[in-house]
Amino acid sequence: MKIYINGKLLDEKNAKISVFDHGLLYGDGVFEGIRVYHNKVFTLDRHVDRLFRSARAIALEIPMSKEDIAKAVVRTCKANKVENGYVRLVVTRGVGTLGLNPYLCKEPQVIIIAAGIQLYPVELYKKGLSIVTVGTMRNHPEAINPRIKSLNYLNNVLAKIEALNAGVMECVMLNPQGYVAEASGDNIFVVRGDLLVTPPVWCGALEGITREVVMEMAPELGYRVKEDVLTRYDLYTADEVFLTGTAAEIIGVGVIDKRPIGKGKPGPVTSQLADRFKEYTKVTGTPIK
Ligand code: PMP
Repeated sequence: MKIYINGKLLDEKNAKISVFDHGLLYGDGVFEGIRVYHNKVFTLDRHVDRLFRSARAIALEIPMSKEDIAKAVVRTCKANKVENGYVRLVVTRGVGTLGLNPYLCKEPQVIIIAAGIQLYPVELYKKGLSIVTVGTMRNHPEAINPRIKSLNYLNNVLAKIEALNAGVMECVMLNPQGYVAEASGDNIFVVRGDLLVTPPVWCGALEGITREVVMEMAPELGYRVKEDVLTRYDLYTADEVFLTGTAAEIIGVGVIDKRPIGKGKPGPVTSQLADRFKEYTKVTGTPIK
């Protein structure tokens, strides 16, 4: 496998980052997870835009233009002959001292890995995920704002540990006010009749790109979409609940906190959206050539 680091495609064994990189020492950096479908990079510009917003939010200047980052992603996919897969695009603060000061880090590191992706097992898309609400709260927006896709994912990791310890693979995280924020690595939607509701980002959600695509697709299928505050009441009483994310795509939730949601398996709206999403991935994207 060839790994992109700062303009060079290196053999995997030579692709190395310093132990003094603040990405490692402090989780100081930003990233994106991007999908490749049918030889095309899916929603590449949206990912690059979000990467730059995340970087801006942590006062990290990416040493490349958006266009050059997008080109580098395509180049890395091409070099690895990735036709369907997953790209991890990372920008770290770079090498610094053992102190926190980010301004002493003079050279951010741009890293691109193009590989495969391990999705949830196929059966789960039919059966539905079981999830639990966890005690680990989503970060307060004035701490690490959840809109920043930073390398500091410890908040999500702690939530994931709670989910795994409860015997399930995902969870619902609430924000400090007790409102539903999102899952540990996905956004969340509730279906009520012909209405889809997802928490606004100020409730502690990442501005998910799959979320955005679903919000754009849904009206074309005759559904209304609203961003609104949700509580666990709304989850337990929903017709359907589903999660969205680059890796998971659209996956129905069957059970939350051991309570069946709707009929206890993914419902027709979730299936219809998932089918439409799949179609969309076939016709859109930045070609790898
Ligand atoms: N929330 C979190 C915390 C995430 O890490 C992700 C990405 N895995 C998402 C939501 C979904 O965002 P996207 O659709 O852009 O992948």
